[in-house]
Amino acid sequence: MSNHLKFYTLHNYRTIPQISSVSDDLIRDVEIVGRVLPFKTNNYVIDELIDWSNVENDPIFTLNFPRKGMLEKKHYGTIEKLIDRDASKEEIDAKVQEIRLTLNPNPAGQEHNVPYLGEIKLKGIQHKYPETVLFFPSQGQTCHAYCTFCFRWPQFSGMNELKFAMKETDLLLKYLRLHTEVTDILFTGGDPMVMSAATLEAYIRPLLAPEFSHIHSIRIGTKSLAYWPYRYLTDKDSDDIIRLFEDVMKAGKNLSIQAHFNHPVELSTKAVEQAIGRIRSTGAQIRVQSPLLRHINDKPELWAEKWRKEVDLGCIPYYMFIARDTGAKHYFELPLDKCWQIFRRAYSKVSGLCRTVRGPSMSDDAGKIQVLGVQEIRGEKVYVLRFIQGRNPKWVDVPFFAEYDPKATWFNQLKPAFGEEKFFFEEQKSKLKVTKPFLFE
Ligand SMILES: *Cc1c(COP(=O)(O)O)cnc(C)c1O
Ligand code: SF4
Repeated sequence: MSNHLKFYTLHNYRTIPQISSVSDDLIRDVEIVGRVLPFKTNNYVIDELIDWSNVENDPIFTLNFPRKGMLEKKHYGTIEKLIDRDASKEEIDAKVQEIRLTLNPNPAGQEHNVPYLGEIKLKGIQHKYPETVLFFPSQGQTCHAYCTFCFRWPQFSGMNELKFAMKETDLLLKYLRLHTEVTDILFTGGDPMVMSAATLEAYIRPLLAPEFSHIHSIRIGTKSLAYWPYRYLTDKDSDDIIRLFEDVMKAGKNLSIQAHFNHPVELSTKAVEQAIGRIRSTGAQIRVQSPLLRHINDKPELWAEKWRKEVDLGCIPYYMFIARDTGAKHYFELPLDKCWQIFRRAYSKVSGLCRTVRGPSMSDDAGKIQVLGVQEIRGEKVYVLRFIQGRNPKWVDVPFFAEYDPKATWFNQLKPAFGEEKFFFEEQKSKLKVTKPFLFE
């Protein structure tokens, strides 16, 4: 295993040494589906995570390599024909673009949460919940590998108009000076940890100044611990990253790494163990979140094992998400009932230290909606739901009910229970202003 990062994409994946063990059918699927969905993997994933003796069913292979079922049959067929008759690049690209636009590239109205500073639209910022601002540094809009289920995929596939990105910290700092209700800033992407230590530092250092004393917590959302733990061990600026983390802690802020692990295998290598240890030694916390994905982690035992490993390594289980309604969703989705069953079976197997995890939850326009469970109330089978996070903080933690629907995989497919016309928050939600998401009272 080399700890020099080497990427593989559609252009060079045939040079992966282990690829010779992969069937021609799977290779063909990569060629076809990889035109539409982003495809990138690296030597750590290849050498340490994928079980090449079982690629047909290997969860990490499925996590990085495009597979047939990820495209609808007709879309697969269309691209296959174009490739078979050696169509021009222009013709294929046009078709690819057309197909991508049918895949709901920008789900759950994220653009509605882009705030303004006077007349300037702050494209690199999302501010949906009063206390937390999301920041998308422009140099962090890629990742150490691409997840086949990812809803950020338009950012990686050149659909630039949808890219939330911002070149400078200036506007971010101005915005935060004006918004003293913000206590948390979450750097996200892509993956901010693909940035050099110097770039990351340029974004984070200014926040340590006294004028930003209202910012209590700095969070970094990252999949780097799963895809490239050497970021914290042997990359040439690893020590600078660790020093930056220490300095954030010394400045009296919380530093929380929002790590993304989909499967216990990702927590099983020496490198990830050491990387977690190194981050923890700075005083930073590591919280872990992941979507629930058919073909990758749809077994309660896997989740129980994952949460236990996280706690063993000093990390805090945080969220289980329901797969978003975008991209290859149909391949990864599970009915809400099934999501809840997997959650509760896993949750009931682990100690209280693992039960910091919340879920399963859907990040809808209105907020993060958790499926608390299925119940029968006076003869009607219903979903019991609640907001973990809401566009209006008053909605949070109030149980509400939807008609049971065994097929529903997302909140927008649910109807209010007991013959109600609307969910309790819908009236207010329709009044939410685009530019001032929570100043509607
Ligand atoms: C989840 C999320 C947050 C952070 O919510 P916490 O519950 O505080 O982790 C912030 N903004 C958006 C858009 C989110 O989806
Ligand atoms: S690491 Fe995160 S942003 Fe990057 S492809 Fe995976 S889910 Fe998407």
